Amino acid sequence: MEIGNLIEDVAFNLLKLAVIKLPTDVKEALQQAYREETSEAGKVNLKAILTNIEFAEKMNTPICQDTGTIIFYVKAGAQAEGLEKVEAALRSATKRATIEVPLRPNAVDPFTRKNSGDNTGRFIPYVNWEVTDGDSIEITVLPKGGGSENVCALGMITPGEGVKGLKRFVIDTVIKAGAKPCPPNILGVGVGGGADIAMKTAKKALLRPLNQSNPNQELAQLEKELYEAANSTGIGPMGLGGKFTVLGVNIEYAHRHPASYPVAVAYQCWAARRATARINADGTVEYLTHKVR
Ligand code: SF4
Repeated sequence: MEIGNLIEDVAFNLLKLAVIKLPTDVKEALQQAYREETSEAGKVNLKAILTNIEFAEKMNTPICQDTGTIIFYVKAGAQAEGLEKVEAALRSATKRATIEVPLRPNAVDPFTRKNSGDNTGRFIPYVNWEVTDGDSIEITVLPKGGGSENVCALGMITPGEGVKGLKRFVIDTVIKAGAKPCPPNILGVGVGGGADIAMKTAKKALLRPLNQSNPNQELAQLEKELYEAANSTGIGPMGLGGKFTVLGVNIEYAHRHPASYPVAVAYQCWAARRATARINADGTVEYLTHKVR
């Protein structure tokens, strides 16, 4: 198959898989939360979430009516063929998925409010590029729901406050968000860089599976502390009280200016949808997050 068409097909499959089936690590985290939740309201909501997930899979229909803003992450091997065709192929796949899956049309002109009707528009779908060694192309799709996006936050804390200030900012953000982002959530925390870099790293941190711990021991410990602190708020599943306000906290960081300490919190809802595939140079495709028969 011609490389542009292959990329479009793979991106279409990823969109379809992502909005219908949650990755295994998210499903397992929700199942574990259901087993361990002690609040009755929390348990009822987690049960409803798990039933929702099951029905979506059985009926081959999106998990949530909000199929999100479409964001792609592309790891492009420097020797890969067809890189110039990637953006156009991702756009076509998004249009096709909007009709065939279907996806709710969510791309609106910020000023006129006109909906493009096909989930594409200026800079949308948004494509994050990373050039790597090799000749394969790895594509991840992150359909990002609006409810959780609305409570993302950026804080420029005083560098002197350090980690103490970071913890305060993250937990203040969780308390302010309350029930709005459809908890239990996943928090991506981006630290350092600059305002834009912190938010980008925070969102990218959402791609790390919940069962993969941070390779940096100190950050893994900080993630655990933030996870426990967020869950001690008692906001609980869907904000109706309980032990599970978050399923996980993932931290990413960049070096920062000595005078700046940006901390960004990217929110993901329980419908933490993402799907990844790798297109090899010989045209074979490996789906890395979902089983494809
Ligand atoms: S926040 Fe997530 S679960 Fe809630 S409505 Fe939006 S996409 Fe759906």
